Amino acid sequence: MRREEYSISGLETAGRVRAQGVAETTIAHRAEIEGVGLHTGASIRMCFVPAPARTGIVFRRTDLGSVDRAVTDIPARFDRVTETTLSTLISNEAGHCVGTIEHVMAAIAACGLDNVVIEVSGAETAVMDGSAEPFVRLIRQVGLRSLDARRRVIRVLKPVVVEEAGKRAALLPHADDSQSFVLPFEIEFDNPVIGHETFEADVSDPAFADMILSARTFGFLKDVEAMWSMGLGRGGSLENSIVIDGEKVLNKGGLRYRDEFVRHKLLDALGDLSLGGAVIAGRYEGVRSGHALNNRLLRALLGNLDAWTFEDAVQDDVWAMGPVAIPAD
Ligand SMILES: [Zn+2]
Repeated sequence: MRREEYSISGLETAGRVRAQGVAETTIAHRAEIEGVGLHTGASIRMCFVPAPARTGIVFRRTDLGSVDRAVTDIPARFDRVTETTLSTLISNEAGHCVGTIEHVMAAIAACGLDNVVIEVSGAETAVMDGSAEPFVRLIRQVGLRSLDARRRVIRVLKPVVVEEAGKRAALLPHADDSQSFVLPFEIEFDNPVIGHETFEADVSDPAFADMILSARTFGFLKDVEAMWSMGLGRGGSLENSIVIDGEKVLNKGGLRYRDEFVRHKLLDALGDLSLGGAVIAGRYEGVRSGHALNNRLLRALLGNLDAWTFEDAVQDDVWAMGPVAIPAD
């Protein structure tokens, strides 16, 4: 589906305009973070750069030796997703990509950061500790500033469901005016360490960041060789992934939460679903869903213009960090 011209501006006028909206944000200053790429193993430097309203989230490759934005820039949008094997990867029309974007996208969504250019020195983000927490800390340290544009949310109007071989992902409308984004998630692994886990979180809950965003990515020792033969997981280590060997967690410190696995899947879902360009007002239900199904779900929603609308964001507690009020003019 080629829907990158899905006409945000055309739909905007059809969206609901509410009084007392809140403003879009950008990061207050440049902020840098460095680490290793999970799949490429490359050493990566990332720099968050303030951006004007309606820019959205844009990754900018600084290693390509080009200043042509059509070459370097990759908008973080659902219709730019070209790979979903073990992580979410986006590409631009020049054929350049950036991979493993879901954790930084989850941090950005939960912090209420609407516009930022992320300069990245390679084809992947830095995995840091395998969670979104280092990015949350960075964004909170630097802070946000408000811009002269109304923040909007994507309100789900009709249920959208995608299914595949025992996996399911759905977006459902709220029964009321709430702009919260509620995500119940359920996983089932044939492994004694994980087994069956469920967790539900609301992005508007002030505790959301602490409950969800420090949950780490995970994998099985038995899968490592297969992953390496696919050219993936080269930067993976016990520093940035939970590694499970049969009944054991190999990481010395054990788990951060008893149910860290389902919490991480929920983090991934938030990152994947933030590629619509705005936070969703609705309810997401994930059953063993992953990057591929999450992206199919978002395409199914946004491809059906009867199923959603833009709406001004009104709540100042929708996001964990709180958006900034529009100054009265
Ligand atoms: Zn993940």
